Amino acid sequence: MSELVLPGGLRDRAVRPGDRRYPLLRSTYTRVSAPSLVLLPESPAEVAASLEVARDSGLPLSVRSGGHGLSGRSSNDGGIVLDVSAMNGVEVLDEDARLVRVGAGARWANVAAALAPHGWAISSGDHGNVGVGGLATAGGIGWLARSYGLTIDHIRAAEVVLPDGRLVRADATHEPDLFWAVRGAGDGVGVVVAFEIEATPLRTVGFGQVVVEADRDGDTLRRWSEYVAAAPHELTGSAVLFADGADVAAQFTAVVASDDQDLVRELIAPLAEFGVRPLSSGAQLAPYPALVSTGHLHPNVGQQPSTTTNALLPALTEASARALMEVAAGPQRTLVQLRALGGAINEVAPDATAYAHRHQQVLAILTQFPPGGGTELDAAAAPLAPYADGAYRNFESRPDDDTFRRAFPGATGDRVRALRERYDPGGLLQRVAAAEPARPR
Ligand SMILES: Cc1cc2nc3c(=O)[nH]c(=O)nc-3n(C[C@H](O)[C@H](O)[C@H](O)COP(=O)(O)OP(=O)(O)OC[C@H]3O[C@@H](n4cnc5c(N)ncnc54)[C@H](O)[C@@H]3O)c2cc1C
Repeated sequence: MSELVLPGGLRDRAVRPGDRRYPLLRSTYTRVSAPSLVLLPESPAEVAASLEVARDSGLPLSVRSGGHGLSGRSSNDGGIVLDVSAMNGVEVLDEDARLVRVGAGARWANVAAALAPHGWAISSGDHGNVGVGGLATAGGIGWLARSYGLTIDHIRAAEVVLPDGRLVRADATHEPDLFWAVRGAGDGVGVVVAFEIEATPLRTVGFGQVVVEADRDGDTLRRWSEYVAAAPHELTGSAVLFADGADVAAQFTAVVASDDQDLVRELIAPLAEFGVRPLSSGAQLAPYPALVSTGHLHPNVGQQPSTTTNALLPALTEASARALMEVAAGPQRTLVQLRALGGAINEVAPDATAYAHRHQQVLAILTQFPPGGGTELDAAAAPLAPYADGAYRNFESRPDDDTFRRAFPGATGDRVRALRERYDPGGLLQRVAAAEPARPR
């Protein structure tokens, strides 16, 4: 392919194969890629110029913030990557309102570290290396999910460069449709360069880990789910299932949004009762940034090849809990992780943002290493399928039409499609998806 000619201002922002920086910029967390050009814009005007280059080239365009996207679509082979990681500032806009402007290229570890001196936090996810842009355009199911809600629930405005190059501010009164789409389906309407997010006052959390032997009928999981669903919103939790043949251990992690040691103990202690027998348990107070630590920061070089899918579930029933145990202990060696939802997440109206799932209590994340194309994962996930009630796009390696229907049900999907058409009529942001092979049927 002949080399693309770049406008003057972008020449210094370009990294091509052969450049010494290319090995650390070509790939994502889950996939080794070989784009022909990585652009590192430092301003909205440079983002607009990058979009113009991509549009004129006809090549696939990937938009990247932190590079942790499970689909690997934030890079590609032979196309262009628009990487906003240089636009990574964290700035307090209004001390009284705890309003913070966060560059889309920041990592959540850096956001947590910058807010800690103010005694504030923004719930994001469980990993400090995840980028702001990919997470805050889709949801954000973090360690404070039940007390704070999703990350998108606290976005008050977004600065977006539209595919036609215009920079717009989207908030409740300016471009309200765009503002709706950015919070859940933001990847399809533009390139977000910054978000204004309301932080919550929080310095210290209770952090507990409890490991139990889990019964194969799913009683352990059902009791965990019922307990967390009924618990005060301060408690957010996750469970990871570790299977060794017929033996399955459940590791519960609990985060309590409080520095009250009695409350922390009171909310975490019951977890040890849910298994066949307790294996270990511990709880302590920790500064919130320790949960999304700067120790997580690393370049993404395709180090974690994997295929992931997920299912949102109402509170676990006997049948759905048994199905989860069947998946975890099955021959396909699927890693099963559960996240407790509910609480503040479910206090938001389903049509308030493009993330419509406001009644489910559990997110089940299923992953296989190495990736294996997804056919085995689909077979492994089959027992859970009858109970699935939607999906979260960010824990999905194949964000195709099937995922779209599960993530954006009914009227939400109609509105997302219409807004993609309005803001990206030429389909510039969909080119990278179109360049990928379809999911085998
Ligand atoms: C180890 C790990 C832990 C995780 N933990 C959590 C968790 O606890 N909670 C949770 O909710 N999610 C979690 N995730 C999923 C995470 O939300 C997604 O992978 C997210 O897309 C990562 O954001 P990123 O900016 O790093 O991704 P990138 O790979 O940079 O981007 C992913 C996609 O987002 C879109 N995008 C990125 N930046 C922009 C932008 N500026 N404007 C518009 N669209 C953009 C693009 O379509 C891109 O393909 C985790 C992922 C990993 C790998």
